Amino acid sequence: MGSMDGVVLPGNSTVEHVTVPVPVPGHGQVLLAMKASSICGSDLRAIYREHLGTGDEAYRGVIAGHEPCGQVVAVGPGCRRLAEGDRVVVYHISGCGVCEECRHGYLIGCTSPSRAAYGWQRDGGHAQYLLAEENTCIVLPDELSFVDGALVSCGFGTAYEGLLKLDVSGRDRVLITGLGPVGLAAAMLARAMGAGPILGTDVAPGRLELARELGVVDHAIRADDGAAATIAELTGGGCEATIDCSGNGAARVLALESTRRWGRCAFVGEGGRVDFAVSELLIHKQVALFGSWVTSLRHMEDLLGHLVRWGLHPERIVTDRFPLAEAAQAYRVADAGAGGKVCLVFDS
Ligand SMILES: [Zn+2]
Ligand SMILES: [Zn+2]
Repeated sequence: MGSMDGVVLPGNSTVEHVTVPVPVPGHGQVLLAMKASSICGSDLRAIYREHLGTGDEAYRGVIAGHEPCGQVVAVGPGCRRLAEGDRVVVYHISGCGVCEECRHGYLIGCTSPSRAAYGWQRDGGHAQYLLAEENTCIVLPDELSFVDGALVSCGFGTAYEGLLKLDVSGRDRVLITGLGPVGLAAAMLARAMGAGPILGTDVAPGRLELARELGVVDHAIRADDGAAATIAELTGGGCEATIDCSGNGAARVLALESTRRWGRCAFVGEGGRVDFAVSELLIHKQVALFGSWVTSLRHMEDLLGHLVRWGLHPERIVTDRFPLAEAAQAYRVADAGAGGKVCLVFDS
């Protein structure tokens, strides 16, 4: 099939284009023509600016992009489900398939040294083609676009899992700290799950504005010294469920401060640290605090079905689309952190 264009990230806030052979699917693998490949906060945090990741987040100089969605164009021997022409979302980690986490569907937590994340330790979606393990592909419902699928492959899946841990329902008022793409996803899904009102905070005025425009929050609140008081006033003492999607220490504390007695709080935003008064914010309020990392194959597949029934399109939060040739500009825009989701799209 010849060669293809792909993008690698040298780690100095630049993008490098490389030409590599189009891979041939081996046993249990499929070759996908990429249709959409979005940029994630973790690509920026741990790869683009500087190669900071270790272990599961180590970047091995491969083709970047861990939020791929595409169409099967070739099927390797031993594949049992997919056929040419199938539209698929790629769960972005290939696991060993036999450890406890893998058998539970949480390939993200695979404990085998063979675990490899697309765009981190094996080639990802920022290229014309992607070699994927059949068992990491989930069929994309016809009603959803390829961009919808790319957004589910990481961000929406991650937001959904956090909300599942919180058991969010119509009984809950929900606060989301951090209105980047994952926060917007959490807001959109929390409302679909019946919760409300939905409150969101961010330090960036552009992100507050976007959340308001999209109508995914009822209150978009500037994350300043007065935020906790504003939230307490709007809710009569806090929300039943809170979720931090920022990874920022102050935002995590705000989420805990704004959790009602007997409420639940989840930390989804990655990195950094947090320091808080444990007795005051956690123990004496009887608060349950969850950590939540990505999602399972099963929950991702469920979410795709729910989105169809809810009539929701994740691509609504995409503010910027670029062809692969303009990946450098796409990363600059994503790194500025002022807008919504940035996605590479392919027309072929
Ligand atoms: Zn991601
Ligand atoms: Zn495993």
